[in-house]
Amino acid sequence: MAQNLNVAIIGGGYAGMAAAAELAAKRVPLTLFDSSRVLGGRARVVEAHGCRLDNGLHILLGAYRETLRLMRLVGVDTGKLLLRLPLTMSYPGQLHLSAPHLPAPLHLLLGLLSARGLSWREKLAAIRFMQALKRCHFKLAEGGSVTVADLLSAQAQPQRVCDLLWLPLCVAALNTPPQSASAQVFCNVLRDSLAAQREASDMLLPRTDLTSLFPDLAAAYVAARGGEILRNTPIRKISREDDGFVLQGTSHDFGRYSHVITAVAPYHLAALVDALPQLASLLEAVAAIRYQPIITCHFGYPPEVRLPLPMLGHAHGIMQWLFDRGQLCGTPGVLAAVISAQGRHLELPREALLRAIHAEIAGIVPNLPAPLWSHLINEKRATFACTPSVRRPATRTALPGLLLAGDYVSGDYPATLEGAVRSGVATAASILGELPAG
Ligand SMILES: Cc1cc2nc3c(=O)[nH]c(=O)nc-3n(C[C@H](O)[C@H](O)[C@H](O)COP(=O)(O)OP(=O)(O)OC[C@H]3O[C@@H](n4cnc5c(N)ncnc54)[C@H](O)[C@@H]3O)c2cc1C
Repeated sequence: MAQNLNVAIIGGGYAGMAAAAELAAKRVPLTLFDSSRVLGGRARVVEAHGCRLDNGLHILLGAYRETLRLMRLVGVDTGKLLLRLPLTMSYPGQLHLSAPHLPAPLHLLLGLLSARGLSWREKLAAIRFMQALKRCHFKLAEGGSVTVADLLSAQAQPQRVCDLLWLPLCVAALNTPPQSASAQVFCNVLRDSLAAQREASDMLLPRTDLTSLFPDLAAAYVAARGGEILRNTPIRKISREDDGFVLQGTSHDFGRYSHVITAVAPYHLAALVDALPQLASLLEAVAAIRYQPIITCHFGYPPEVRLPLPMLGHAHGIMQWLFDRGQLCGTPGVLAAVISAQGRHLELPREALLRAIHAEIAGIVPNLPAPLWSHLINEKRATFACTPSVRRPATRTALPGLLLAGDYVSGDYPATLEGAVRSGVATAASILGELPAG
């Protein structure tokens, strides 16, 4: 019976909020704790220069099935708050590829065939690559040991197809350089996006900040069903007593809970659970996880500055993607450049990096004036490094009642919103599965 349950969720990022919404939908009593006063974790609003910015620009895909389902559950108007665009890779002067509104797989086939900027030989090579993956059902015989660079070279993909298509997709999805990125996880992403129904490959660009997009509405949904959301409430330690779990806060303890879901980033897990001997081998695996950064630079230009599209790609430079927050979020003149994964740019001092990116934007926007302000956020541990050797822990731990949620938990996806949400949903399903039928 739900009455015998009392669940604590530590962490109000997308994983924790997904777990909370799923449990609240079944009226399971719960308390969610987050150390920050802003929900969303690594996908959160940042207020600066009079604007609601984000810590990092996020792209969702039509394939984000569980994220979209939970958004609708908690009342997000996804038609209004997400700009749905057909998959588009647009590199001014180099490549323009847009998948037309046709049923799969024609959308991809015609998108590739009609792409401007690739030769016929290059287009056919890209199509051959997708066909080869389809033939093996996107399961690589070499299993977990191959990198994306190995795979592309084994499939003889021409350099320009790699530079303009596969490598940007790899870095955008896995946030890991192709030389060390897991080919199998890359194949999973291609399977569920490019090779699935046309809608799955659509790009969904948020039209609001990332805290308003889901976590805040999920919190309201949970509260309306009797759940408690405690912001600004860090948890220091989890301990196991005979009659349940106890959480140590900064000034007092919280408890007792039948279940605890830890929904913190992997690098915050050890501090919470290091007193629980059952979790020693789990902590060893988590300690071996490595991370990759993402840098986001917002620039405030005069309001008339605008990009030809809401989002552009940029090859052979420092920034990889450029977003027009004026077109997306109603803040005209605000552009945001994204640089995923490690690279030479990390050697540049902050001001030099901002200047270099402004110069790259000036190569796209004619007569670009100097920015009125700029704001750089370096998320040094944005995601786990999605390498072939990374060991991702399971939802259930060796301590019954203590479950793991988060983008690093075992699953098909790299560190993404969908990976985080799916892991949260899995923890809720595990707890609800313990309830007697009927
Ligand atoms: C800059 C950037 C760009 C990205 N771009 C994309 C993208 O385009 N598309 C995409 O799908 N994904 C993207 N991602 C990845 C995505 O943001 C993450 O995978 C996802 O947000 C992880 O969610 P999570 O809930 O697992 O963890 P987190 O978001 O890290 O949530 C953990 C929460 O736990 C809280 N917490 C930690 N310790 C404690 C404690 N002791 N007590 C209480 N609370 C605690 C934190 O405050 C935080 O709110 C990006 C990430 C970054 C950083």
